[in-house]
Amino acid sequence: PASRLPQVGTTIFTQMSQLASDHQAINLSQGFPDFEGPQVLLDRVGEYIKKGMNQYAPMTGVEPLRLAIADKIQRCYGRKVCPQAEVTVTSGATEAIFAAIAATVRPGDEVIVFDPAYDSYEPAILLNGGVAKHIQLDSYDFSINWDAVREAITASTRMIILNSPHNPSGATLSVEDVAALEALVENTDILILADEVYEHILFDGRHHLSLHRYEALAERSFIVSSFGKTYHITGWKIGYCVAPAALSVEFRKVHQFLTFSTSTPMQYALADYLNLDKDHDQALGEFYQAKRDRFNTAMQDSRFQFTPSQGTYFQLMDYSNISDINDVEFVHWLVKEVGVAAIPLSVFYQKAPPELRWVRFCFAKRDETLDQALERLIKA
Ligand code: PMP
Ligand code: GLN
Repeated sequence: PASRLPQVGTTIFTQMSQLASDHQAINLSQGFPDFEGPQVLLDRVGEYIKKGMNQYAPMTGVEPLRLAIADKIQRCYGRKVCPQAEVTVTSGATEAIFAAIAATVRPGDEVIVFDPAYDSYEPAILLNGGVAKHIQLDSYDFSINWDAVREAITASTRMIILNSPHNPSGATLSVEDVAALEALVENTDILILADEVYEHILFDGRHHLSLHRYEALAERSFIVSSFGKTYHITGWKIGYCVAPAALSVEFRKVHQFLTFSTSTPMQYALADYLNLDKDHDQALGEFYQAKRDRFNTAMQDSRFQFTPSQGTYFQLMDYSNISDINDVEFVHWLVKEVGVAAIPLSVFYQKAPPELRWVRFCFAKRDETLDQALERLIKA
């Protein structure tokens, strides 16, 4: 049959997690923690179910959660957003990304995407008739070449998709990046989709340069985040999108027919938890930095080479000292022969540089899991 997405197969995350389980390997591929989120948060869901909060939530999200999100944005970034008109709760960041694109990208519109890119952007653009214009990040430090962006902009450019902290590289935006972006979009009607799902996971004293901090950018942006990453609950699939009222109106037109609304008891539980533990966000960077350092310190004794990740719970590793095979072959070898699953970097590119020899490890794991994996990886 004719396919709307002929190039798309099963996602690499599903493939690698399946391979890890087939080979009983330690799974450092798909990004999810192997430990639980806060007990109080988990308990609250059951309590709300027993209290009868089991019917449709309002389309935009339950009010206490929208209020708690607005409060968090004010606390973290000093920006006042309207919980009624500007905040929409979604079924994960994935839904928010799709809805923002579907709401604004018209057939033939161009969307700038930076490679390596998270895998859900391109299919969302294509399904809505848009054209993805890929710009490669620097192949060493994954920074953005703003001259290349300037050259890529045309009269058809509708949107730029930014992801910081960046999956899969762990790179983060700098003040210079934000200034360059501001200068580029000034006096245009280019929209921005800011994927900030790792907003609370930054290392070595870095501060997240959320677009919420930059009013001139925020007023043309869909700023998306996910509770999955922040509260160790990737399986709940609850995220949100903050956008100016006029953009939120369009966003909600799509959201109401994509999912209509998202799980009611979980939204109430999250609202409570956001208010109960306001320090959680600030502590998360340190929590994951300890895991990154545990992983990287041991990896110094391996043949892998790396520069420490600046944010996210991912670490890229160069394996060119171990093998010259391509990264897809390498992760198959690694899962079978070494017993550790990873993600090949090339799958995040439209056209991967042929000399690419990097794989991505997820370090959102219990220390025992990391130590077990490390024991194997240092022998590779
Ligand atoms: N964007 C990025 C960069 C991600 O890494 C992820 C999750 N892996 C998502 C979006 C999707 O988030 P969610 O699970 O909340 O849909
Ligand atoms: N975001 C996760 C990752 O990068 C995977 C999400 C998914 O499996 N779709 O590993």
